[in-house]
Amino acid sequence: MAEDAKARWTFQWKELYDEVIDSGLCTGCAGCVIACPHDVIGYNHAPGEYIPFHLEEELGLDDCVHGQKGCTSCTRACPRFRDWETEADRHLFGRSRQDDEMSGVYKDVLLTRAVDDAVHELGQDGGLVSAILIWCLDNGVIDGALVSHLEGGDAGRAAWKAVPAVATDRESVLAGAGSRYTYSANTLALAEAREQGLESLALVGMSCQTSIGPVMWHRKVGKVGRPIKLNIGLLCSKSFDDAIFEELFWAKYRLPKEEMVKMNIKGVFQIWMRNGDYHEVNLKECHAWTREGCNFCPDFAAEHADISTGGIGKYSDWTLTVVRTELGRQIIMQMLEEGVIEGRPGDSDPDAIALMHKLSAKSRARWPTWADPTARAGLPASLVG
Ligand SMILES: Cc1cc2nc3c(=O)[nH]c(=O)nc-3n(C[C@H](O)[C@H](O)[C@H](O)COP(=O)(O)OP(=O)(O)OC[C@H]3O[C@@H](n4cnc5c(N)ncnc54)[C@H](O)[C@@H]3O)c2cc1C
Ligand code: SF4
Ligand code: SF4
Repeated sequence: MAEDAKARWTFQWKELYDEVIDSGLCTGCAGCVIACPHDVIGYNHAPGEYIPFHLEEELGLDDCVHGQKGCTSCTRACPRFRDWETEADRHLFGRSRQDDEMSGVYKDVLLTRAVDDAVHELGQDGGLVSAILIWCLDNGVIDGALVSHLEGGDAGRAAWKAVPAVATDRESVLAGAGSRYTYSANTLALAEAREQGLESLALVGMSCQTSIGPVMWHRKVGKVGRPIKLNIGLLCSKSFDDAIFEELFWAKYRLPKEEMVKMNIKGVFQIWMRNGDYHEVNLKECHAWTREGCNFCPDFAAEHADISTGGIGKYSDWTLTVVRTELGRQIIMQMLEEGVIEGRPGDSDPDAIALMHKLSAKSRARWPTWADPTARAGLPASLVG
Protein backbone atom coordinates (compact mmCIF):
# COMPACT_ATOMS: atom_id res chain seq x y z
CA MET A 1 0.00 0.00 0.00
CA ALA A 2 1.49 3.39 -0.93
CA GLU A 3 1.59 6.17 1.72
CA ASP A 4 -1.25 8.16 0.17
CA ALA A 5 -3.37 5.00 -0.17
CA LYS A 6 -2.87 4.31 3.55
CA ALA A 7 -4.15 7.77 4.36
CA ARG A 8 -7.21 7.15 2.23
CA TRP A 9 -8.26 3.82 3.75
CA THR A 10 -11.90 4.62 4.47
CA PHE A 11 -13.41 1.21 3.76
CA GLN A 12 -15.72 -0.17 6.41
CA TRP A 13 -18.33 -2.91 6.87
CA LYS A 14 -20.32 -1.51 3.94
CA GLU A 15 -17.48 -2.28 1.52
CA LEU A 16 -16.64 -5.55 3.29
CA TYR A 17 -20.22 -6.73 3.02
CA ASP A 18 -20.54 -5.75 -0.61
CA GLU A 19 -17.12 -6.86 -1.93
CA VAL A 20 -16.36 -9.91 0.21
CA ILE A 21 -19.38 -11.32 2.01
CA ASP A 22 -22.18 -10.76 -0.49
CA SER A 23 -19.88 -11.52 -3.44
CA GLY A 24 -18.95 -14.96 -2.07
CA LEU A 25 -15.23 -14.31 -1.47
CA CYS A 26 -15.62 -14.66 2.30
CA THR A 27 -13.95 -17.77 3.71
CA GLY A 28 -15.39 -17.43 7.20
CA CYS A 29 -11.91 -17.00 8.71
CA ALA A 30 -13.30 -14.63 11.39
CA GLY A 31 -10.47 -12.10 11.01
CA CYS A 32 -13.02 -9.27 10.90
CA VAL A 33 -14.77 -10.62 14.00
CA ILE A 34 -11.65 -10.52 16.17
CA ALA A 35 -10.63 -7.11 14.78
CA CYS A 36 -13.90 -5.26 15.43
CA PRO A 37 -13.32 -2.86 18.34
CA HIS A 38 -17.08 -2.35 18.84
CA ASP A 39 -17.99 -6.05 18.96
CA VAL A 40 -20.72 -5.62 16.38
CA ILE A 41 -19.72 -8.49 14.09
CA GLY A 42 -21.35 -11.79 14.94
CA TYR A 43 -20.39 -15.26 13.75
CA ASN A 44 -22.19 -18.57 14.03
CA HIS A 45 -19.80 -21.44 14.29
CA ALA A 46 -22.54 -23.74 13.11
CA PRO A 47 -23.33 -26.10 10.22
CA GLY A 48 -24.26 -24.25 7.05
CA GLU A 49 -23.12 -20.91 8.47
CA TYR A 50 -19.49 -19.90 9.23
CA ILE A 51 -20.01 -16.39 7.91
CA PRO A 52 -19.88 -13.03 9.71
CA PHE A 53 -22.94 -10.82 10.11
CA HIS A 54 -23.68 -7.41 11.59
CA LEU A 55 -25.29 -7.38 15.01
CA GLU A 56 -26.76 -3.86 14.78
CA GLU A 57 -29.57 -3.21 12.38
CA GLU A 58 -29.92 0.60 12.45
CA LEU A 59 -28.46 0.97 8.95
CA GLY A 60 -29.52 -2.44 7.65
CA LEU A 61 -27.30 -5.51 7.65
CA ASP A 62 -24.97 -4.07 5.02
CA ASP A 63 -23.83 -0.88 6.73
CA CYS A 64 -22.34 0.07 10.09
CA VAL A 65 -22.89 3.11 12.30
CA HIS A 66 -19.31 2.91 13.56
CA GLY A 67 -18.06 2.56 10.00
CA GLN A 68 -19.94 5.70 9.04
CA LYS A 69 -18.07 7.45 11.85
CA GLY A 70 -14.69 6.32 10.52
CA CYS A 71 -14.05 2.81 11.89
CA THR A 72 -12.26 0.67 9.27
CA SER A 73 -10.93 -2.24 11.34
CA CYS A 74 -12.92 -4.98 9.60
CA THR A 75 -11.68 -4.29 6.08
CA ARG A 76 -8.14 -3.84 7.41
CA ALA A 77 -8.28 -7.33 8.91
CA CYS A 78 -9.87 -9.14 5.99
CA PRO A 79 -7.57 -11.43 4.03
CA ARG A 80 -9.89 -11.44 1.04
CA PHE A 81 -10.45 -7.69 0.72
CA ARG A 82 -8.94 -6.16 -2.43
CA ASP A 83 -5.18 -6.74 -2.86
CA TRP A 84 -4.73 -8.80 0.31
CA GLU A 85 -2.15 -11.13 -1.23
CA THR A 86 0.41 -8.49 -2.20
CA GLU A 87 -0.04 -6.72 1.11
CA ALA A 88 0.54 -9.86 3.16
CA ASP A 89 3.49 -10.84 0.92
CA ARG A 90 5.11 -7.45 1.42
CA HIS A 91 4.65 -7.61 5.16
CA LEU A 92 6.10 -11.11 5.48
CA PHE A 93 8.68 -11.28 2.71
CA GLY A 94 9.33 -7.65 1.74
CA ARG A 95 8.24 -8.37 -1.84
CA SER A 96 5.35 -9.71 -3.89
CA ARG A 97 5.11 -13.27 -5.04
CA GLN A 98 6.59 -13.84 -8.52
CA ASP A 99 4.43 -15.38 -11.23
CA ASP A 100 6.28 -18.69 -10.98
CA GLU A 101 5.77 -18.92 -7.22
CA MET A 102 2.41 -20.69 -7.39
CA SER A 103 2.72 -21.99 -3.83
CA GLY A 104 3.85 -18.63 -2.45
CA VAL A 105 7.25 -17.48 -1.23
CA TYR A 106 9.25 -20.02 0.80
CA LYS A 107 12.75 -20.82 1.96
CA ASP A 108 12.86 -24.61 2.28
CA VAL A 109 10.69 -27.67 1.72
CA LEU A 110 11.35 -30.82 3.71
CA LEU A 111 9.57 -33.84 5.12
CA THR A 112 9.38 -34.16 8.88
CA ARG A 113 7.86 -36.27 11.57
CA ALA A 114 7.69 -36.31 15.34
CA VAL A 115 10.18 -38.62 17.05
CA ASP A 116 7.86 -39.09 20.06
CA ASP A 117 5.77 -42.14 19.11
CA ALA A 118 2.59 -40.90 20.81
CA VAL A 119 2.73 -37.57 18.98
CA HIS A 120 3.48 -39.27 15.69
CA GLU A 121 0.67 -41.77 16.17
CA LEU A 122 -1.96 -39.15 17.05
CA GLY A 123 -0.86 -36.70 14.34
CA GLN A 124 -2.61 -36.66 11.00
CA ASP A 125 0.56 -37.11 8.96
CA GLY A 126 3.93 -36.84 10.72
CA GLY A 127 2.56 -35.16 13.85
CA LEU A 128 4.79 -32.15 13.09
CA VAL A 129 2.20 -29.52 14.04
CA SER A 130 1.61 -31.04 17.46
CA ALA A 131 5.35 -31.53 17.96
CA ILE A 132 6.00 -27.84 17.18
CA LEU A 133 3.32 -26.70 19.61
CA ILE A 134 4.60 -28.93 22.43
CA TRP A 135 8.22 -27.88 21.80
CA CYS A 136 7.31 -24.19 21.66
CA LEU A 137 5.31 -24.48 24.91
CA ASP A 138 8.15 -26.34 26.63
CA ASN A 139 10.71 -23.77 25.50
CA GLY A 140 8.72 -20.63 26.32
CA VAL A 141 8.33 -19.58 22.67
CA ILE A 142 4.56 -19.55 23.25
CA ASP A 143 2.31 -19.88 26.27
CA GLY A 144 -0.72 -21.10 24.32
CA ALA A 145 -2.02 -22.11 20.90
CA LEU A 146 -5.24 -21.48 19.01
CA VAL A 147 -6.21 -24.88 17.69
CA SER A 148 -9.27 -26.99 16.98
CA HIS A 149 -10.78 -29.57 19.31
CA LEU A 150 -13.86 -31.71 19.04
CA GLU A 151 -16.81 -30.16 20.84
CA GLY A 152 -17.36 -31.80 24.22
CA GLY A 153 -13.83 -33.22 24.34
CA ASP A 154 -13.47 -36.98 24.29
CA ALA A 155 -17.07 -37.44 25.41
CA GLY A 156 -18.21 -35.40 22.42
CA ARG A 157 -15.96 -37.20 19.96
CA ALA A 158 -18.97 -38.99 18.51
CA ALA A 159 -20.45 -35.73 17.19
CA TRP A 160 -17.33 -34.85 15.13
CA LYS A 161 -18.03 -31.16 15.57
CA ALA A 162 -14.77 -29.22 15.17
CA VAL A 163 -14.56 -26.12 17.36
CA PRO A 164 -11.88 -23.49 18.10
CA ALA A 165 -9.97 -24.14 21.32
CA VAL A 166 -6.96 -23.02 23.34
CA ALA A 167 -4.15 -25.49 24.06
CA THR A 168 -1.64 -24.74 26.79
CA ASP A 169 0.06 -28.07 27.44
CA ARG A 170 0.93 -31.40 25.83
CA GLU A 171 -2.42 -32.92 26.74
CA SER A 172 -4.53 -30.16 25.22
CA VAL A 173 -2.28 -30.05 22.13
CA LEU A 174 -2.73 -33.77 21.58
CA ALA A 175 -6.48 -33.47 22.13
CA GLY A 176 -6.51 -31.52 18.86
CA ALA A 177 -4.07 -33.69 16.87
CA GLY A 178 -5.36 -35.11 13.58
CA SER A 179 -7.51 -33.41 10.94
CA ARG A 180 -11.22 -32.81 10.83
CA TYR A 181 -12.40 -31.82 7.37
CA THR A 182 -15.18 -29.53 8.55
CA TYR A 183 -14.50 -25.89 9.41
CA SER A 184 -13.06 -24.52 12.61
CA ALA A 185 -12.30 -20.78 12.77
CA ASN A 186 -9.45 -21.20 15.26
CA THR A 187 -8.96 -17.41 15.35
CA LEU A 188 -12.11 -17.22 17.48
CA ALA A 189 -10.24 -18.90 20.34
CA LEU A 190 -8.26 -15.65 20.72
CA ALA A 191 -10.91 -14.28 23.11
CA GLU A 192 -10.53 -17.24 25.45
CA ALA A 193 -6.73 -17.03 25.25
CA ARG A 194 -6.94 -13.37 26.30
CA GLU A 195 -9.26 -14.28 29.17
CA GLN A 196 -6.66 -16.79 30.32
CA GLY A 197 -4.04 -14.01 30.24
CA LEU A 198 -1.96 -15.71 27.55
CA GLU A 199 0.47 -13.42 25.76
CA SER A 200 2.40 -15.45 23.18
CA LEU A 201 0.32 -17.64 20.94
CA ALA A 202 0.61 -19.90 17.93
CA LEU A 203 -2.29 -19.91 15.50
CA VAL A 204 -2.91 -23.20 13.70
CA GLY A 205 -5.26 -22.82 10.78
CA MET A 206 -6.12 -23.64 7.20
CA SER A 207 -4.69 -21.35 4.50
CA CYS A 208 -7.52 -18.84 4.79
CA GLN A 209 -6.74 -18.18 8.45
CA THR A 210 -2.98 -17.81 8.04
CA SER A 211 -3.20 -14.62 5.96
CA ILE A 212 -5.09 -12.69 8.67
CA GLY A 213 -2.07 -11.70 10.77
CA PRO A 214 0.18 -10.41 7.96
CA VAL A 215 -2.73 -8.51 6.36
CA MET A 216 -3.63 -6.89 9.68
CA TRP A 217 -0.04 -5.81 10.33
CA HIS A 218 0.28 -4.36 6.84
CA ARG A 219 -2.95 -2.43 7.22
CA LYS A 220 -2.07 -1.09 10.66
CA VAL A 221 -4.44 -3.06 12.88
CA GLY A 222 -1.82 -5.66 13.72
CA LYS A 223 -1.98 -5.10 17.45
CA VAL A 224 -5.36 -6.86 17.58
CA GLY A 225 -3.49 -10.06 16.84
CA ARG A 226 -0.27 -9.08 18.62
CA PRO A 227 -0.28 -12.13 20.92
CA ILE A 228 -0.06 -14.37 17.84
CA LYS A 229 3.69 -14.89 17.43
CA LEU A 230 3.72 -18.02 15.31
CA ASN A 231 1.52 -18.85 12.35
CA ILE A 232 1.24 -22.55 11.40
CA GLY A 233 -0.67 -23.29 8.20
CA LEU A 234 -2.47 -26.40 7.00
CA LEU A 235 -2.45 -26.95 3.23
CA CYS A 236 -6.05 -26.98 2.13
CA SER A 237 -8.12 -27.34 -1.02
CA LYS A 238 -11.50 -27.39 0.71
CA SER A 239 -13.43 -28.09 3.86
CA PHE A 240 -16.84 -29.71 4.00
CA ASP A 241 -20.15 -28.74 5.47
CA ASP A 242 -21.02 -30.69 8.63
CA ALA A 243 -24.07 -32.07 6.84
CA ILE A 244 -21.82 -34.48 4.91
CA PHE A 245 -21.88 -36.86 7.88
CA GLU A 246 -25.66 -37.33 7.81
CA GLU A 247 -26.44 -36.71 4.17
CA LEU A 248 -23.68 -38.74 2.52
CA PHE A 249 -21.70 -40.92 4.91
CA TRP A 250 -24.79 -42.09 6.80
CA ALA A 251 -27.57 -41.77 4.21
CA LYS A 252 -25.69 -43.55 1.43
CA TYR A 253 -22.98 -45.64 3.10
CA ARG A 254 -24.56 -46.29 6.50
CA LEU A 255 -21.40 -45.07 8.26
CA PRO A 256 -22.42 -43.61 11.64
CA LYS A 257 -20.18 -40.74 12.70
CA GLU A 258 -20.22 -42.03 16.31
CA GLU A 259 -18.20 -45.02 15.08
CA MET A 260 -15.62 -43.07 13.07
CA VAL A 261 -12.18 -42.77 14.62
CA LYS A 262 -10.09 -41.11 11.92
CA MET A 263 -10.43 -39.61 8.49
CA ASN A 264 -8.01 -38.44 5.83
CA ILE A 265 -8.08 -37.27 2.23
CA LYS A 266 -5.61 -38.91 -0.14
CA GLY A 267 -7.24 -38.82 -3.56
CA VAL A 268 -10.30 -40.35 -1.87
CA PHE A 269 -12.07 -39.60 1.42
CA GLN A 270 -10.70 -42.26 3.79
CA ILE A 271 -12.63 -43.25 6.90
CA TRP A 272 -11.52 -45.62 9.68
CA MET A 273 -14.15 -47.10 12.00
CA ARG A 274 -13.88 -48.17 15.62
CA ASN A 275 -14.28 -51.87 14.71
CA GLY A 276 -11.25 -51.67 12.42
CA ASP A 277 -13.20 -51.33 9.17
CA TYR A 278 -11.82 -48.98 6.55
CA HIS A 279 -13.91 -47.19 3.89
CA GLU A 280 -13.15 -45.01 0.89
CA VAL A 281 -15.62 -42.51 -0.55
CA ASN A 282 -15.02 -41.03 -4.00
CA LEU A 283 -14.11 -37.35 -3.64
CA LYS A 284 -16.31 -36.41 -6.59
CA GLU A 285 -19.29 -37.58 -4.56
CA CYS A 286 -18.24 -35.37 -1.65
CA HIS A 287 -18.03 -32.21 -3.75
CA ALA A 288 -21.70 -31.36 -3.28
CA TRP A 289 -20.95 -30.79 0.44
CA THR A 290 -18.03 -28.40 -0.16
CA ARG A 291 -18.41 -25.56 2.33
CA GLU A 292 -19.58 -22.46 0.54
CA GLY A 293 -16.67 -20.31 1.80
CA CYS A 294 -14.20 -22.52 -0.07
CA ASN A 295 -15.61 -22.14 -3.56
CA PHE A 296 -13.48 -19.12 -4.53
CA CYS A 297 -10.51 -19.75 -2.25
CA PRO A 298 -7.20 -19.30 -4.15
CA ASP A 299 -4.73 -20.40 -1.46
CA PHE A 300 -3.89 -24.09 -1.26
CA ALA A 301 -0.42 -23.81 0.26
CA ALA A 302 -1.10 -21.57 3.28
CA GLU A 303 1.19 -19.03 1.67
CA HIS A 304 1.37 -16.61 4.61
CA ALA A 305 2.24 -19.00 7.40
CA ASP A 306 5.65 -19.22 9.07
CA ILE A 307 5.49 -22.97 8.43
CA SER A 308 2.93 -24.62 6.12
CA THR A 309 2.16 -28.31 6.52
CA GLY A 310 0.47 -30.94 4.40
CA GLY A 311 0.03 -34.62 3.81
CA ILE A 312 0.70 -35.01 0.11
CA GLY A 313 3.42 -37.29 -1.18
CA LYS A 314 4.53 -40.88 -1.10
CA TYR A 315 5.59 -40.87 2.57
CA SER A 316 2.18 -40.99 4.18
CA ASP A 317 3.32 -40.74 7.79
CA TRP A 318 5.49 -37.68 7.22
CA THR A 319 4.41 -34.05 7.11
CA LEU A 320 5.30 -32.06 4.00
CA THR A 321 6.86 -28.99 5.60
CA VAL A 322 7.17 -25.65 3.82
CA VAL A 323 9.34 -23.22 5.74
CA ARG A 324 8.58 -19.64 4.77
CA THR A 325 10.01 -17.25 7.35
CA GLU A 326 13.17 -16.90 9.42
CA LEU A 327 11.17 -17.69 12.56
CA GLY A 328 9.84 -20.86 10.95
CA ARG A 329 13.36 -21.86 9.92
CA GLN A 330 14.81 -21.29 13.40
CA ILE A 331 12.12 -23.45 15.02
CA ILE A 332 12.48 -26.34 12.57
CA MET A 333 16.31 -26.24 12.68
CA GLN A 334 16.36 -26.22 16.47
CA MET A 335 13.85 -29.06 16.71
CA LEU A 336 15.90 -31.12 14.24
CA GLU A 337 19.09 -30.39 16.17
CA GLU A 338 17.52 -31.45 19.44
CA GLY A 339 16.18 -34.63 17.86
CA VAL A 340 12.54 -33.77 18.62
CA ILE A 341 11.67 -34.28 14.98
CA GLU A 342 13.44 -36.10 12.19
CA GLY A 343 13.62 -34.76 8.68
CA ARG A 344 14.48 -35.71 5.15
CA PRO A 345 15.01 -33.37 2.20
CA GLY A 346 12.01 -32.36 0.12
CA ASP A 347 14.01 -33.62 -2.87
CA SER A 348 13.44 -37.17 -1.65
CA ASP A 349 9.87 -36.77 -2.93
CA PRO A 350 9.97 -34.28 -5.84
CA ASP A 351 6.54 -35.44 -7.00
CA ALA A 352 5.02 -34.16 -3.75
CA ILE A 353 6.43 -30.68 -4.37
CA ALA A 354 5.27 -30.76 -7.99
CA LEU A 355 1.80 -31.80 -6.81
CA MET A 356 1.72 -28.93 -4.30
CA HIS A 357 2.45 -26.44 -7.11
CA LYS A 358 -0.19 -28.07 -9.30
CA LEU A 359 -2.85 -27.97 -6.59
CA SER A 360 -1.87 -24.39 -5.75
CA ALA A 361 -2.46 -23.37 -9.37
CA LYS A 362 -5.78 -25.21 -9.36
CA SER A 363 -6.93 -23.29 -6.30
CA ARG A 364 -5.77 -19.97 -7.74
CA ALA A 365 -7.89 -20.63 -10.83
CA ARG A 366 -10.97 -20.57 -8.54
CA TRP A 367 -10.37 -16.92 -7.63
CA PRO A 368 -12.86 -15.01 -9.80
CA THR A 369 -11.68 -12.82 -12.66
CA TRP A 370 -13.83 -9.94 -11.37
CA ALA A 371 -11.86 -9.77 -8.10
CA ASP A 372 -8.40 -8.23 -7.59
CA PRO A 373 -6.19 -9.97 -10.19
CA THR A 374 -3.06 -10.68 -8.12
CA ALA A 375 -4.14 -14.04 -6.69
CA ARG A 376 -4.45 -15.35 -10.28
CA ALA A 377 -1.10 -13.95 -11.44
CA GLY A 378 1.10 -16.56 -13.11
CA LEU A 379 -1.67 -19.07 -13.82
CA PRO A 380 -0.71 -21.42 -16.65
CA ALA A 381 -2.66 -20.87 -19.87
CA SER A 382 -4.46 -24.20 -19.39
CA LEU A 383 -6.13 -22.82 -16.25
CA VAL A 384 -6.95 -19.33 -17.47
CA GLY A 385 -10.51 -19.52 -18.60
C1 LIG B 1 -9.87 -28.94 6.45
C2 LIG B 1 -8.48 -29.42 6.13
C3 LIG B 1 -8.13 -29.66 4.82
C4 LIG B 1 -6.83 -30.10 4.50
N1 LIG B 1 -6.54 -30.37 3.19
C5 LIG B 1 -5.30 -30.79 2.85
C6 LIG B 1 -4.97 -31.07 1.49
O1 LIG B 1 -5.82 -30.94 0.60
N2 LIG B 1 -3.70 -31.48 1.21
C7 LIG B 1 -2.75 -31.61 2.18
O2 LIG B 1 -1.62 -31.99 1.87
N3 LIG B 1 -3.02 -31.34 3.47
C8 LIG B 1 -4.27 -30.94 3.83
N4 LIG B 1 -4.57 -30.66 5.15
C9 LIG B 1 -3.48 -30.70 6.15
C10 LIG B 1 -3.25 -32.10 6.76
O3 LIG B 1 -4.47 -32.77 6.94
C11 LIG B 1 -2.55 -32.00 8.13
O4 LIG B 1 -3.27 -31.13 8.98
C12 LIG B 1 -1.12 -31.47 8.02
O5 LIG B 1 -0.37 -32.26 7.15
C13 LIG B 1 -0.43 -31.47 9.39
O6 LIG B 1 -0.30 -32.79 9.83
P1 LIG B 1 0.43 -33.11 11.18
O7 LIG B 1 0.40 -34.59 11.42
O8 LIG B 1 1.78 -32.45 11.18
O9 LIG B 1 -0.48 -32.32 12.22
P2 LIG B 1 -1.14 -32.75 13.62
O10 LIG B 1 -0.05 -32.92 14.61
O11 LIG B 1 -2.12 -33.82 13.42
O12 LIG B 1 -1.91 -31.38 13.99
C14 LIG B 1 -3.00 -30.96 13.24
C15 LIG B 1 -3.46 -29.59 13.73
O13 LIG B 1 -4.53 -29.19 12.90
C16 LIG B 1 -5.58 -28.62 13.68
N5 LIG B 1 -6.85 -28.94 13.00
C17 LIG B 1 -7.36 -30.16 12.73
N6 LIG B 1 -8.52 -30.07 12.09
C18 LIG B 1 -8.77 -28.75 11.96
C19 LIG B 1 -9.83 -28.01 11.40
N7 LIG B 1 -10.87 -28.59 10.83
N8 LIG B 1 -9.76 -26.67 11.42
C20 LIG B 1 -8.70 -26.04 11.98
N9 LIG B 1 -7.67 -26.70 12.55
C21 LIG B 1 -7.70 -28.03 12.53
C22 LIG B 1 -5.47 -29.31 15.03
O14 LIG B 1 -5.92 -28.47 16.05
C23 LIG B 1 -3.98 -29.62 15.16
O15 LIG B 1 -3.33 -28.62 15.88
C24 LIG B 1 -5.86 -30.27 5.51
C25 LIG B 1 -6.22 -30.03 6.85
C26 LIG B 1 -7.51 -29.62 7.17
C27 LIG B 1 -7.88 -29.38 8.62
S1 SF4 C 1 -12.93 -13.47 4.74
FE1 SF4 C 1 -12.65 -13.49 6.97
S2 SF4 C 1 -12.21 -11.36 7.52
FE2 SF4 C 1 -13.07 -11.34 5.44
S3 SF4 C 1 -15.26 -10.98 5.71
FE3 SF4 C 1 -14.96 -13.20 5.67
S4 SF4 C 1 -14.73 -13.81 7.83
FE4 SF4 C 1 -14.44 -11.59 7.72
S1 SF4 D 1 -10.33 -24.11 0.83
FE1 SF4 D 1 -9.45 -24.35 2.88
S2 SF4 D 1 -8.19 -22.53 3.07
FE2 SF4 D 1 -9.63 -22.11 1.46
S3 SF4 D 1 -11.44 -21.18 2.43
FE3 SF4 D 1 -11.79 -23.38 2.39
S4 SF4 D 1 -11.09 -24.06 4.41
FE4 SF4 D 1 -10.16 -22.07 4.02
